[in-house]
Amino acid sequence: MTPSEATQALIAHARTTAALGQVAGRLGWDQETVMPEGASAQRAEEIAAMDGVLHARRSDPQIGDWLALAEAPEDPAIAAQLREIARSFARTCRVPAALSAQIARVTSLSQGEWARARAAGDMAAFAPRLAEIVELKRAEGAALAEAGQRPYDALLAEFEPGTTAAELSAMFEVLRPRLVALRDRALGKPQPAALAGQFDGARQQALAEELARAFGYDFDRGRVDLAVHPFSSGSGADVRITTRIDAADPFNCLYSTLHEVGHAGYEQRIDAGYGLSPIGQGASMGVHESQSRLYENQLGRSRAFTGWLHARMVEVFGPMDGIADADAFYATVNRVSPGFIRTEADEVHYNLHILMRFDLEQALIAGDLAVGDLEEAWNARFAADFGQTVPGAAQGVLQDVHWPVGLFGYFPPYTLGNVYAGCLHAAFRAALPDLDQDLALGDPTPALAWLGERLQRHGALRMPRETVEEATGTPVSAEPLLAYLEAKFG
Ligand code: ZN
Repeated sequence: MTPSEATQALIAHARTTAALGQVAGRLGWDQETVMPEGASAQRAEEIAAMDGVLHARRSDPQIGDWLALAEAPEDPAIAAQLREIARSFARTCRVPAALSAQIARVTSLSQGEWARARAAGDMAAFAPRLAEIVELKRAEGAALAEAGQRPYDALLAEFEPGTTAAELSAMFEVLRPRLVALRDRALGKPQPAALAGQFDGARQQALAEELARAFGYDFDRGRVDLAVHPFSSGSGADVRITTRIDAADPFNCLYSTLHEVGHAGYEQRIDAGYGLSPIGQGASMGVHESQSRLYENQLGRSRAFTGWLHARMVEVFGPMDGIADADAFYATVNRVSPGFIRTEADEVHYNLHILMRFDLEQALIAGDLAVGDLEEAWNARFAADFGQTVPGAAQGVLQDVHWPVGLFGYFPPYTLGNVYAGCLHAAFRAALPDLDQDLALGDPTPALAWLGERLQRHGALRMPRETVEEATGTPVSAEPLLAYLEAKFG
């Protein structure tokens, strides 16, 4: 076999793996949207079978042989594909199969146990299982770690390759005091009441689809369905999103749709030539989240765009109680309210939720914090950052599914994504001085075109941070995000 044949073999093998990965993802989409309830046990078996096939393909020893033969290609797209194939192969091979299977088994059992413990607000009931999961993830991190790498960093690399906890800590330590100060300033001002009234579900859905179209979502290669939790699923020519309807809160449907359209639009705009290849997807979770946050917040919650949205909502639903004009609407959409729940947090509070999870999960994996002391540590940190006493575990340490299913290292990319979004927003505002005129007409196209050309079309061609820095032309920093938040809420 020649070096070029080895490269061709790697790319062909990865293409079939990617195609099967898309099929596996669609099984998950189906499960959350249209699957009959009685199918759940069979579906679990189907998904496990697909997982087994994918794991075997990703750890196929032939990949190692081909990688040893292949030469560094000149084409940067081929080079990036080989980089991703080598990374995935090395990680898959480092974790012993028995440990992998044990993690899969325990985290599948723990989902139901967590849901019951959360409903009962009983951390003590779940603590032994969580301690077991932390132990397994620590072992996985140690297995994944390259020489000199900390286990937590090895886990983090699954979601955000090319960064370390130390690097993120330095960035987040800049954010935390200024966010706490901003929170205090914002709450010192009178905040509007939450939206009142009832909003027809079918009209919410129709308006959400109108927004999705306006934000460039391609319905020829996607669809919108209802699900309990909004998500985006798939890559390339089939990228689907879900939303949810709450009759009392149309913003939930509209803004979660914009968020998912940000994820989906990123996938849909990746160069078609990268389809079903290891670079035919978003560069990382953090870069993905930067797109969804930009669509939802910097664009969707901007003063200019909400002016248009207010008028459109009055057309669709009639006048809204307590909202006299577009300024009042803008204030309501951007209402700052200290809550216990991360997923309901406003732009000021959101990153504070992530920062505390980041510190706590590092301490858990490092062994500096025992699961038995976690609830107390959580509540103390929440009181320090949010000035509130957590009333119970359901509103505190048990609220998120991430740790119970073994997702350690998954939280920090949310805030990193916001930091990336801040950098990208500053860059396209500078390049598009008249953007507000278009947003005021409900048209974000110039911003989307900028993002598509500078960032989205490249997929995972470059490493995550490099992807953002190539787009903006400046180093990544927390300053633009802080400047944006302080201007908006200070
Ligand atoms: Zn997201």
